[in-house]
Amino acid sequence: MQFFKMIIPMDRKKLIIIGSGPAGFTAAIYAARANLFPLMYEGFFSGPSGGQLMTTTEVENFPGFPSGITGPELMNAMRKQAERFQTQILTEDVDEVDLRERPFKVKGRKTTLLADSLIVATGATAKRLQIPGAGEGEFWQRGVTACAVCDGAMPIFRGQELYVIGGGDTAVEEAIFLTKYGSKVYIVHRRGELRASKIMAKHAMEHPKIEILWDTVCTKIDGKDVVESVTLQNVKTKEEVTKKGAGVFFAIGHTPNTAFLKGQLQTDEQGYLVVKPGSTYTNIEGVFAAGDVQDKVYRQAISAAGSGCMAALDAERWLTANGQS
Ligand code: NAP
Repeated sequence: MQFFKMIIPMDRKKLIIIGSGPAGFTAAIYAARANLFPLMYEGFFSGPSGGQLMTTTEVENFPGFPSGITGPELMNAMRKQAERFQTQILTEDVDEVDLRERPFKVKGRKTTLLADSLIVATGATAKRLQIPGAGEGEFWQRGVTACAVCDGAMPIFRGQELYVIGGGDTAVEEAIFLTKYGSKVYIVHRRGELRASKIMAKHAMEHPKIEILWDTVCTKIDGKDVVESVTLQNVKTKEEVTKKGAGVFFAIGHTPNTAFLKGQLQTDEQGYLVVKPGSTYTNIEGVFAAGDVQDKVYRQAISAAGSGCMAALDAERWLTANGQS
């Protein structure tokens, strides 16, 4: 908070990073160590600083933590590391940016700043079904999650019947992943045909531990402390059944967080930012994208961190080439 007082309106920064997940913090660490004096908008109303990992429990697949680490602990450590090298962090959402000319204009809720370069690392938000039992304070993170890779190995899911909601590649990939832990994995799909690619669909249909419940939606999740049952409805017959189950995994797509860009950067048909292959360059010179906002395939903390590093290096080299470093 003290920070706001120190910043003069329209102060000009070499690099502004928007977003505070693994991509944003890694970009900040690299950029700060390269003397770019980055400023980060970590967000406020848009979600917790630290991004999606703040709502994850145990992270067991981030290298360097052989005993695992909780999502919030990992993100707090990244934040501290970014601050150690004097990254300036504003606890503020960015409402809009003006990328028509350089320096770019970044308008936060309270501050307007200029930036010679920009890294967009605002992530993506997993879509969640708004059904009874799925909310915060109900069974969210107590058997209901939106990331099988993050949460699937938790003891509560082992040897249990698990439900993946969705019919795309993510649903199939997550269902296959979950067969390592669950006794049986149901894919609950609202239509009679999977959206997933043919090869993925074949894997799912041939897997001995996976059963696809066609034309079916999940209408309710119930239990005591953790999930114990799901209610499913056949959309054609309207018949409802309640089945036992310990886990519900939403795989109904993600929404990349790009609304504040108001269409100024090129996106694909699903709204993900398009980067030049093998780099973090967007279609506008001096603007780089890292993490889930530009990645619909891997979507892991470690791959986001890796692309954050790439974005900082790309920005540094671009600034140097343009005489601004
Ligand atoms: P997706 O392709 O958009 O699929 C979302 C699925 O969720 C669809 O089957 C959709 O049903 C269902 N769905 C959406 N809203 C729903 C609701 N309210 N209730 C019930 N079901 C709902 O998303 P995705 O699977 O996350 O994949 C996103 C992109 O990433 C795709 O391009 C995919 O190919 C790619 N991807 C690639 C890989 C890989 O290559 N290994 C892995 C994962 C993802 P409908 O089918 O009826 O619309």
